[in-house]
Amino acid sequence: YFKKLVKNSISTKLRKWVKDYCKRNGLLTLSVLAVVSGCVAKIYFSFPGELLMRMLKMLILPLITSSLMSGLSAMDTKASGRLGLLTITYYLWTTFIAVIVGIVLVLIIHPGTGTEKEGHKAAGGPVMTSADALLDLIRNMIPSNLIEATFQQYKTELVSNFKNSAKSSQANFVYIMPDYENPKMGHPVFLELTPPPEIHYKIVPGRSNGMNVLGIVIFSATMGLLLGRMGSRGTPLVNVCLCVNECVMKIINAAMWYFPFGIVFLVAGKILDMHDPAVLAEKLGMYFITVLAGLFVHGVILLPMFFYVFTRKNPFSYIRGLLQALVIALATSSSSATLPITMKCLLENCHVDRKIARFVLPVGATINMDGTALYEAVAAIFIAQVNEYELDFGQLVTISITATAASIGAAGIPQAGLVTMVIVLTSVGLPPDDISLIVAIDWILDRFRTMINVLGDALAAGIMAHLCKKDFQKDVPSTNNSERRD
Ligand code: ASP
Repeated sequence: YFKKLVKNSISTKLRKWVKDYCKRNGLLTLSVLAVVSGCVAKIYFSFPGELLMRMLKMLILPLITSSLMSGLSAMDTKASGRLGLLTITYYLWTTFIAVIVGIVLVLIIHPGTGTEKEGHKAAGGPVMTSADALLDLIRNMIPSNLIEATFQQYKTELVSNFKNSAKSSQANFVYIMPDYENPKMGHPVFLELTPPPEIHYKIVPGRSNGMNVLGIVIFSATMGLLLGRMGSRGTPLVNVCLCVNECVMKIINAAMWYFPFGIVFLVAGKILDMHDPAVLAEKLGMYFITVLAGLFVHGVILLPMFFYVFTRKNPFSYIRGLLQALVIALATSSSSATLPITMKCLLENCHVDRKIARFVLPVGATINMDGTALYEAVAAIFIAQVNEYELDFGQLVTISITATAASIGAAGIPQAGLVTMVIVLTSVGLPPDDISLIVAIDWILDRFRTMINVLGDALAAGIMAHLCKKDFQKDVPSTNNSERRD
């Protein structure tokens, strides 16, 4: 009865009205439908990619802990000490070379000359120093709570008293949000861009979302070294770690089938998210090319050359074994998330010694970021060029050192380098706000630099495996069975 009532009264009338309306306003109806379906598609389009990221992130913690604990427990003190020293020295050296490549290219190409300065200039002056970043690095090395370290790391943040929402240089007005921590700042207002509003910053030590990989690496490496010294008493835990490691590798093998599907949506979702492609124009395009050229020179010429010099093996056939990991790095923009795949490629395709890969890779994913260091140096000098700010030799040296330090401090997560770049900019007196000049294309550069970060770690593992081969042949453990299982 109810159905009939509805059908005969409201429903019929409503349907008739909608039909007539749509006939009369066909184009408008289509546009509204397109907008609604566009919004729905946009919301759900990135979902398969999100699942891929979640899968990879899920594996980071068990992989790092089990790899380092089981790997280091099977090494003797001398062998692990030598490996550690060689690895860290190699990492620092290659990162510094990457920075030099970036600086040379940006000085030759000069991408920032003649660009109209976008937005306004910050008047805050240097606000965050390398010392702050160093303190964060040390804080992260010693997590006060291991459980918390699995989802949070320490990151000192710059908080401006104005949260400026003006994104476009064309805007004549800027909408200023009040500083909620400081009620005296008043209500939201519109301000004219000229004269530029004064912006002051304060430094707030805090916690950022994202795993504290460094803290977990330090803890697991210490545990691994101690387990190796404990003899048969440590064997049960070493066996647990070996089992966890084996299971994680099996999960990775199974998840591999989902990855191509996830990658398509991950990248497509990001492209849909891109705003204002016009900003890619002109000098920003040259900056883009400069960073890519630097990454190419470092990743395709220098790193393979080092690999050849140390190992006398063909670097490109080694790199062929890493293609899967490089594609995942390109898709996820995260060297930490790529770590499980890099490990799989090294063990299965490149046949690197397990014990070496288990140490060199997790440490590399945390501190060795050649691509990030190169990009930070190029970006800082580009911003100086845009501001017509002459950098002297001393300042170039400062940039090279701070860019190396900032890349070590950056986490292996998407766009972490953009955050630590504040250190490089402020070290030479450039306004940190000018990061806004490059932010629009950072998401895409991030993908390429992450590839080089991953490539650097994987090539380092190959070199270390060659250099420390003898140490590990001699290393026959009598106290635990991890070696036998390897
Ligand atoms: N996304 C980079 C990585 O995970 C870090 C960065 O440069 O932002 O290696």
